[in-house]
Amino acid sequence: MASYDWPRRAVWLDIAADFKRPQDVREFVNWSRRAGMGIVFPCIAHATGTLCYESEYAPTALGYREWNPLRILLDECHAAGIEVHPWFVVFCWGSNLLPYLEGKAYEIGSTPPLQRSHPDWFTTDLYGRHTLEAPSLGPGPGGLTMLDPGKVEVRQFLRHVVTELLSKYPDVDGIHLDYIRYEDYRCTLRLDVTDAPDIGRRIKVGDILYITRPHSDLPGEQDLDLFYELTALSTSEAVLERQYRYCYCDSCLARFSQETGIRIPDLPDTHSVARWLWEEAPEAWVRWRAQQVTDAVRSIAGPVHAAHKRLSAAVFWNYPAIVRTIAQDWVEWAREGLLDFAVPMTYGFAAERVGELTRGYVQLVGTDCPVYAGVLRNDGYPLGGEELQRYEALVSENGGAGVALFCYGTWRGVI
Ligand SMILES: [Zn+2]
Repeated sequence: MASYDWPRRAVWLDIAADFKRPQDVREFVNWSRRAGMGIVFPCIAHATGTLCYESEYAPTALGYREWNPLRILLDECHAAGIEVHPWFVVFCWGSNLLPYLEGKAYEIGSTPPLQRSHPDWFTTDLYGRHTLEAPSLGPGPGGLTMLDPGKVEVRQFLRHVVTELLSKYPDVDGIHLDYIRYEDYRCTLRLDVTDAPDIGRRIKVGDILYITRPHSDLPGEQDLDLFYELTALSTSEAVLERQYRYCYCDSCLARFSQETGIRIPDLPDTHSVARWLWEEAPEAWVRWRAQQVTDAVRSIAGPVHAAHKRLSAAVFWNYPAIVRTIAQDWVEWAREGLLDFAVPMTYGFAAERVGELTRGYVQLVGTDCPVYAGVLRNDGYPLGGEELQRYEALVSENGGAGVALFCYGTWRGVI
């Protein structure tokens, strides 16, 4: 691979949103050729828990029995000299209501959703609530759920999916990973309670309150119940908070103890255990969580490299802070040779800042793992073609291999 010339431009595209018929695929390939794309990342698993082709491991997304856009894309791109690296959303695995969406989100009679066949493969948050019962907000029915990176069975499942993809489409040029991380964020709701002077007699700090989002087209018992903890209360304001932090399931806690030799004391609830871990064993806990995600990358890299394909990942830009939060130690993946190139999502920054960040990444990973800077275009950040050239010049001056454009849908009218 020493003589390989790394393409300068790559682009993400969403098979489901961008391709409705074969003509759309051809238009995309023509555009890619004109715009100088060397690599395309078509999304084949889009955080829905379904796949855009028939699989033994996950349901077939609705419509993909009738046609096979990935097959057409591979043929057309290769005829045009463009590489295809299917984009695989790894841990975000769709709605908790997926089992109720047979015939609506996925083909009738296809492989059952993991939400039904393996509910134990999903994460548990720091309140001790399983993600299928307490998902996070997402588009469409129900809420989003995450697979548990700390479960060996999940990592085996990911390896099987990727192995199957490589056998069904042996001419792919690589695999591109996304959402290869834990979820980690906090939501805060501030409620004005000035007109409820006696609220303090009804609720107290520490209470869990529920907000329900109903679904008109599904039975009432499948409404989404979002819960929040009351963390502050005054005569004018009630503060509701929820932290989306993972994974505190029994098996993760047991394995952490076993593998690190750190004994977690008996505490009244999962929230107390989470607090104890972050206060009393933060370094070990951070390292152990990062290790789970790295082991998942390792599990996927095995079949990808055995098939002589390249593995890449879309990663958060703010390294190393992200090792503590989402447990994504992508610099370690690059250094270990698991990644063949990295795509930090440097979205919404000026060109100079992207250049600066690229220089930092290249210093961290060296020359064995080329870096592509992700450049976002949307209504809030409406870059033009000339501005893109400025990003490319600065990325290149700072040692980057090129840029990856997010995404076809927003860049297609501009370049
Ligand atoms: Zn777990």
